[in-house]
Amino acid sequence: MNILGLVVILSTIVAISFYFLHKLATTSKFQIIGELITHVKTNEKIVALTYDDGPNPPYTNQLLSVLEKLQAKATFFVVGKNVEKHPEVVKLILSKGHELGNHSYSHLPMILKTPSFIKSDIDRTDKLIRQLGVQQKIHFRAPFGIKRFILPFMLDKMNKKNILWNLDPQDYAASNSKEIEDYVLEHIKPGSIILLHDGSQDGDENTSKTITATENLIEKLRQQGYQLKTVSELLMLR
Ligand SMILES: [Zn+2]
Repeated sequence: MNILGLVVILSTIVAISFYFLHKLATTSKFQIIGELITHVKTNEKIVALTYDDGPNPPYTNQLLSVLEKLQAKATFFVVGKNVEKHPEVVKLILSKGHELGNHSYSHLPMILKTPSFIKSDIDRTDKLIRQLGVQQKIHFRAPFGIKRFILPFMLDKMNKKNILWNLDPQDYAASNSKEIEDYVLEHIKPGSIILLHDGSQDGDENTSKTITATENLIEKLRQQGYQLKTVSELLMLR
């Protein structure tokens, strides 16, 4: 075999290996180390609504009013830099009895980041959440759901679970609230963790569709016998 042939074969092997490593790192079903949670296996009709990327007034506040009116509890995976901008909204989330999770400080994809960057980015948001009075364990959700090998290793060291989801109606891309509702109602199962957004990675975002969908979904899910609980409450079923 000539050199060119060898180079082509080696490059192909390297490319295929990178492809599979990338798949392995970005699939939401598997994590090489530490605990990755996408749902809870249970027969009980209990599910968790989760809201990412806030706080984002006035939409987070409107969402809180809907949840309060329907007496439903949810989990908010907040972004640290937004917590710094709107601590009063985060206080409101807590005062209404919802759970707070850590969705990083900067909302950067945790790919090719150093262990010290990852640790300080997560610690910084934990600190902001603790300053607002949270004492219980703070779960983490990776920005974009992505995790490569350093992030799970760091989370394991920090004794944190990576809470992802198994139901993503892509609310940010939906053209109306009904699309979000239909997707959730079609795919809901006992133990589901539902991904929704009260903000966006780019900052302010009108999340009215998600708020309308939330109101209708809570009513329709309850008609089907579902209870809505926080992530920590759902994890207690394991
Ligand atoms: Zn996010």
